[in-house]
Amino acid sequence: MSEDIRYCTIIGSGPAGYTAAIYAARANLKPLLYTGKEPGGQLMITTEVENYPGYPDGRTGPEMMMDFQKQAERFDTEIVSEMITKVDFSGPVHILTTETGKVIKTHTVVISTGASAKWLGLDSEQKLMNNGVSACAVCDGFFFRGKDVIVVGAGDTAAEEASYLAKLCPTVHMLVRRDEMRASKIMQKRVLNTPNIKVHWNTETLDILGDTEVTGAKVINNKTKEESTITAEGFFVAIGHKPNTGIFKGWLDMDDLGYLLTTPGTSKTKVPGVFASGDAQDHVYRQAVTAAGTGCMAALDAERYLAAKEIV
Ligand code: NDP
Repeated sequence: MSEDIRYCTIIGSGPAGYTAAIYAARANLKPLLYTGKEPGGQLMITTEVENYPGYPDGRTGPEMMMDFQKQAERFDTEIVSEMITKVDFSGPVHILTTETGKVIKTHTVVISTGASAKWLGLDSEQKLMNNGVSACAVCDGFFFRGKDVIVVGAGDTAAEEASYLAKLCPTVHMLVRRDEMRASKIMQKRVLNTPNIKVHWNTETLDILGDTEVTGAKVINNKTKEESTITAEGFFVAIGHKPNTGIFKGWLDMDDLGYLLTTPGTSKTKVPGVFASGDAQDHVYRQAVTAAGTGCMAALDAERYLAAKEIV
């Protein structure tokens, strides 16, 4: 390896990134991994993970990510706690720039930047952020023990957040904008069978109430157009995610939502030597195990690319 050109640089530290690191390191590519601003990715804000094979008793998301990290470190992955803020894919060697201005030259790049929580976009949501407004029940639920809270959303995340909060809070109001939930059947059942979760169907948020702290929400029933106020001290937004792919705009192909496009059945983007994995390129499955699978694919694709070019 030339002194200053890395074989393989991985951007992101969720299941995809760490899996790519494990495979790349074991293939002797001496990977460099940039963790980004949310080290460990979305699993860091997840409670129990019960569907990752190999963990028959379940594991919390943060524990699982510590395991991933340890395994990557065991094979000498170099892990750096910084963000990549700029990329240049114009040449045969790719150039990445960190938030502190450091420049990395690399033959291959594995993108595993994941996705981040979406927000409703209300001014009051911004104003009361961290003063009652949160996107993470596991991180912030503790502060709302004994208090009523609201959860917005109807997917698995919302169902999981509501179930978690129901163990801490007298009443969890779940605001579902349609007359059905998107969450998996088992999660729906769990929500509907929890007596202190009150599901408000066809209900949307007009405003989050409170001057310095959340006191409730003004909501509307979108069928009857009836407006009402729900009193609560916590407001948890769980309405999905958007891919963290902004820095790749103009360099790589993406769909309307910003998910990276790859050649089907591979991790290849349109730029040779740049591979995409995990939630940054998957809006369909979005599971830890599928992210890990595509991280593995990206590392193997990178290894084969380097071998074909006789770089390694
Ligand atoms: P989803 O995209 O699945 O669901 C988002 C939910 O938010 C939908 O119900 C949507 O409503 C609602 N929503 C979106 N925008 C608004 C809005 N402006 N106002 C009100 N409601 C809104 O996201 P999730 O984060 O829940 O899940 C993402 C993926 O991760 C899924 O594949 C899920 O299965 C998976 N997951 C798995 C878990 C597990 O297995 N333990 C845990 C958590 C997530 P509508 O339905 O009307 O569009």
